[in-house]
Amino acid sequence: MTNDEFISTDIDGATDTPWPQRYRTAMMGSAPAPLRLLVRGEGAYVWDSEGVRYLDFLAGIAVNALGHAHPVLVEAVTTQISAIAHVSNYFATPPQIELAERLRRITGAGDRGRVYFGNSGAEAIEAALKLSRLNKGRKRVLALNNSFHGRTMGSLSLTGKPALRDAFEPLIPGIVHIDSTIAALEAAIDDTVAALVVEPIKGEAGVIELPEGYLKRARELTTKHGALLILDEIQTGVGRTGAWFSFQRAGIVPDAIAVAKGIAGGVPIGALITFGEASDLFATGQHGSTFGGNPLATAAANAVLGEIESAGLIENAVQRGAEIRAGIEALNSPLVAEVRGAGLLLGIGLTEPVAHRISTKALELGLIINAANDTSIRIAPPLIIGDAEVAEFIAIFTQALEATS
Ligand SMILES: *Cc1c(COP(=O)(O)O)cnc(C)c1O
Repeated sequence: MTNDEFISTDIDGATDTPWPQRYRTAMMGSAPAPLRLLVRGEGAYVWDSEGVRYLDFLAGIAVNALGHAHPVLVEAVTTQISAIAHVSNYFATPPQIELAERLRRITGAGDRGRVYFGNSGAEAIEAALKLSRLNKGRKRVLALNNSFHGRTMGSLSLTGKPALRDAFEPLIPGIVHIDSTIAALEAAIDDTVAALVVEPIKGEAGVIELPEGYLKRARELTTKHGALLILDEIQTGVGRTGAWFSFQRAGIVPDAIAVAKGIAGGVPIGALITFGEASDLFATGQHGSTFGGNPLATAAANAVLGEIESAGLIENAVQRGAEIRAGIEALNSPLVAEVRGAGLLLGIGLTEPVAHRISTKALELGLIINAANDTSIRIAPPLIIGDAEVAEFIAIFTQALEATS
């Protein structure tokens, strides 16, 4: 199919019913109404069913690390699905072993690292929660207020957002939410704590960094009290914040990290990676997943991680992130209070609760950004962006700000 055919494809087919109505009547009412019907992507751009092009500075929420339809990813998936797409956990496949070894290397976990594969961020967190139960039989887990760890019952139990949780109580007992301060951690931790679970940067909360020195202190305290330090790197991982994983910027070694989102560039996958002694906790038969680690998803991840490495995309994330930050700050807009985050995971803190108006205006002008909450714009563009995309982002974002103030 050519690109033009893609764009002109009438998804309504034989029916005259417009797609929003078909979506509304056929899809579960758990998600908000979609903004556009997207039919194609290339690089940092996507096209909707009307043929309108958008600069994608959200990348499927930090998922499309290589942008859309990257030839390396297309080639890897095509080759793998033609060879073998799935086997059961009774068998191993080469891409699965290769990816586990690669993750041991890029996390720095090395010979004492072990990898568990699932299919999503929530599943990586579920595995982490089960891991915590194996730590000396302890049942208390510390997590942060305003954190996000997923929507399944276990990952929701760790999520520190009452609005997402309330309808589903009772959740898993023993999980205590604390403020994101070193003082709150010092007050809460003791020898009954199985694990501390934190995001190095709180993405869903609007890209909020931990206080200076938090992870170092968390490492000291969890080690002292025999608790696991588990990091949710689902949004911050695979190069996005200017290191393979965000914890590496803090100079600490965790006991486990959960990864997903960007790791296979859009093919669903999640992983829990353990370090050191935590690698010995799971015993044979204690956890598993039908799809987890299948050759299709792991081949996709190998391609994405290989491309990030060979194309220098971590360095690009540092450079482009700095350019975007400088560009936003140079606007001197009275609406912009601050720019938060690292690399290409950036939060724009606003002085007024107009984030949704700005993101709506930007979309009308051909730019996809995200209002994480009323006062925060989140951007998480593909790691492949260059000069042209940065300049176009600044131009459209400027217009969206001006139209809002
Ligand atoms: C997206 C996200 C999750 C959940 O991942 P899913 O793949 O949606 O289950 C968990 N934690 C963080 C930090 C995330 O950004």
